[in-house]
Amino acid sequence: MTVPNIITSLPGPKAKALIERDARAVSPSYTRDYPFVMARGEGAVVEDVDGNLFLDCAAGIAVSSTGHSHPEVVQAIVDQAQKFLHMSGTDFYYEPQIKLAENMAGIVPIDGPVRSFFANSGTEAVEAAIKLARYHTKRQYIIAFFGSFHGRTLGSLALTASKPVHRKGFGPMMPGVCHAPFAECYRCPLNLKPETCSAECLGFIEDQIFMHLVTPDEVAAIVFEPIQGEGGYIVPPQQFIDRLRALTRQHGILLVADEVQSGMGRTGKMFACEHYGVKADIVTVAKGIASGMPLGIMSAPRDIMAWPPGSHASTFGGNPVSSVAAIATIKILRETLVRNAAEVGAHLMTGLRELQQRHPIIGDVRGKGLMIGIELVRDRVTKERAIEERNAVVHAMFRRGVLVLGAGKNAVRLSPPLVLTKAQADTVLKLLDESLTEVTAAVAKR
Ligand code: PLP
Repeated sequence: MTVPNIITSLPGPKAKALIERDARAVSPSYTRDYPFVMARGEGAVVEDVDGNLFLDCAAGIAVSSTGHSHPEVVQAIVDQAQKFLHMSGTDFYYEPQIKLAENMAGIVPIDGPVRSFFANSGTEAVEAAIKLARYHTKRQYIIAFFGSFHGRTLGSLALTASKPVHRKGFGPMMPGVCHAPFAECYRCPLNLKPETCSAECLGFIEDQIFMHLVTPDEVAAIVFEPIQGEGGYIVPPQQFIDRLRALTRQHGILLVADEVQSGMGRTGKMFACEHYGVKADIVTVAKGIASGMPLGIMSAPRDIMAWPPGSHASTFGGNPVSSVAAIATIKILRETLVRNAAEVGAHLMTGLRELQQRHPIIGDVRGKGLMIGIELVRDRVTKERAIEERNAVVHAMFRRGVLVLGAGKNAVRLSPPLVLTKAQADTVLKLLDESLTEVTAAVAKR
């Protein structure tokens, strides 16, 4: 069977009926860009309830790292489920959680012996990082970056500065948070060029925040995404990361790498920090860690994660079923998929750069491994954001049988399961080429 294979109008009749039921009973706060209703998945292929087959370049928002229902992950889940589903690592011990913590200690980009705290999601991992940073340093302030996304619970939301809709109506935010500009070099906030710049945007922290708002000895942590995800798949230059690490060291501020989206092999290395050769003080992980089972992890050096019993915990955090799924995921990532993400990612990137030559609407192509952003613009000189066009491309891809999501205001993100093959990547490139042609032609007709 060739994939994609679209055999009904979209949405098909069964999908339509389910979407109607959803509208009546499910919170309308979710962002559903198009009507895909999942029935099953295998690898990078997903089938909807009407039997249409799609190539998945969204992976449930960069989650299904080993592909949908990888047999080894499913087997680990089944085996564990037959033994016990839950016991709460908060009050009792079980080996899957201990083994996973040992696994994490071996892979997270942190120097020295590492401990891990277990939660259920990315936002909870970030909450835990905020709490540990404050607890350990006895300082209150946290610095985060514009464009960042760290979650939607009230602590992490105070750091998130991606889109106003995430925050609107939910204030006041947790106090003690300042924001600084991120190194979005395609749209440099200071109009500089990365080749000749030494991450001047970080000067904002020293020249503005430390000068006018707080002194460095009040700052517990700087939280950053090594590659910004929701903000638009933005890859900072090496000098930004180096200067950030030096700045935090100089002032005894903890550097928290939020690898929730960029971690677990997605960028062609286990963690995006590895591309920069940087070690963080705290690392947060979720999304791809357990191939789709809910799990968030916050890791830190043993001497930093030295808070007393009762100070932080979660009933479900590090659930045994999620833990074994994560152990199986890490094994598969190490054996094959980190490498595949690097290879197929490079292949996709070459194809996208070639598309960029032919489609003036592509302003920028960036990313690492299978974490790729394609920024669409109306004009390459003014860089006017092609927001409607980006949305139209996402829909055109859906109609052709490829699931993609937007990122930031006007970028298309490719975040497929890490099992994507080069042949599947070529299909994605062909259908993206068609979609860009269709959307550009529609704009020209206006
Ligand atoms: N941190 C980053 C970098 C993310 O991309 C996300 C989600 O997109 C989160 C945190 C929050 O994760 P969750 O949705 O699991 O709470």
